[in-house]
Amino acid sequence: MRILKFGGASVKDADGVKNIATIIQRFSEPMVIVISAMGKMTNAFEHLVKSYFDAKQNEINDNYNKIKAYHHNLVKELFDTDQTNIVDSLLKKLEDKLQSEASLNYDFEYDQIVPFGELLSTHIVSTYLNSVEINNEWVDIRKVLRTDDNYRNAGVNWELTQKMMCARFSTNNNQRFITQGFIGSNENNLTTTLGREGSDYTGAIIAYALDANNLSIWKDVPGVLNADPRWYTKAHKIDELSYWEAIELTYYGAQVIHPKTIKPLQNKQIPLLVKSFIKPDEDGTVINATEQAQKLDPIFVLKKDQTLLSISPKDFSFILEQNLSDIFQVVSKHQVKINLMQSSALNFSICVDHHKNIGKVIEELSSDFDIRYNEDMELVTIRHYTNAAINEIISNKEVVDSQVSRKTARYVVKKSEWNFNKV
Ligand code: ADP
Ligand code: ASP
Ligand code: MG
Repeated sequence: MRILKFGGASVKDADGVKNIATIIQRFSEPMVIVISAMGKMTNAFEHLVKSYFDAKQNEINDNYNKIKAYHHNLVKELFDTDQTNIVDSLLKKLEDKLQSEASLNYDFEYDQIVPFGELLSTHIVSTYLNSVEINNEWVDIRKVLRTDDNYRNAGVNWELTQKMMCARFSTNNNQRFITQGFIGSNENNLTTTLGREGSDYTGAIIAYALDANNLSIWKDVPGVLNADPRWYTKAHKIDELSYWEAIELTYYGAQVIHPKTIKPLQNKQIPLLVKSFIKPDEDGTVINATEQAQKLDPIFVLKKDQTLLSISPKDFSFILEQNLSDIFQVVSKHQVKINLMQSSALNFSICVDHHKNIGKVIEELSSDFDIRYNEDMELVTIRHYTNAAINEIISNKEVVDSQVSRKTARYVVKKSEWNFNKV
């Protein structure tokens, strides 16, 4: 069994859908094809949820009409005859939902609305492929990907999921299944989601459950590069990466693969192929159990929108386990994510993702601690650093904090323009 995953960029328009049809035809063995919402539709659905939750009828109408028009236009371009009715029953379900009153639980409402993006996209792609005789069966992943009820960040019930997936995706012939990324359902059969960008993770969950030969994820880049090419203009492809190295990179913030994707694959030693849907003949990157024998070139990861908090006990006591435990409790309670920490005798610094609750963290800690904070920071990680690589990153930058270990150098820098060509 082969698992293929196509993200929003690959199915953003009719040509994209036709292109993935040609990619699918390259393989003859049984496969499960995981598809996420088309283009930037998940962002559009997020706007729709917000207007629905705030009960702003004009905004609901605007947002819904944009979503409807996008899918209708895509269907019109994709098929020779008018087939817009193929999305009507899903759109009707969405309309019914929008006409009902919202509960008070935002995350729950989010998970009842945003997954329509995945349901619509898989339905369109599946119908199109069948129409051009690439036979496939559409599967509602919610029947087999079972989760807890932690809406918007659901945890997988591995045992049940594995059992149900093995039964649903069993096949004796070279069958193709098409299903949704990102979504699942809880024990009350209510829809849940796995967190933004979670479709890569869905691919890995299915690969794990079915003991697949490999998982390939098809991107708009040639593979995993040594930096995000939108930022670092000289980025080049890495041919092979170990699971270990891939987990490190996603942990530091490399956005090319969802951070939870690697673990299930590593646990069953299933290779992950990161390939280009634009140039499918090219090799891409393979992530596997390699010992990473040859030394890797420096890899750069940029995390934007950071805040640096410096926390010092008011009574001049040392930073000890008890203070740290109090600080962690407050930070975790407010769902603020720490990306780097550093401690000295009287100071504990944390670099955190910008988050609406940072004010609450500061307020709660300020009875016992003096707190200073710097907004507008960026965190750069250089894995396998060299002096030249460090220079390239931090020359012309105001470095506010740094941490250097054997393989990794990390810098908190004040936000300013990046310009690599001039260095
Ligand atoms: P998907 O369509 O599957 O959702 P994403 O847009 O989430 O794909 O991921 C692909 C994008 O990830 C690329 O367009 C690229 O800008 C970005 N990216 C960030 N870091 C890297 C990296 N190290 N290598 C390749 N791409 C990266
Ligand atoms: N459509 C979802 C998102 O944009 C999941 C994914 O694409 O991976 O977050
Ligand atoms: Mg994505």
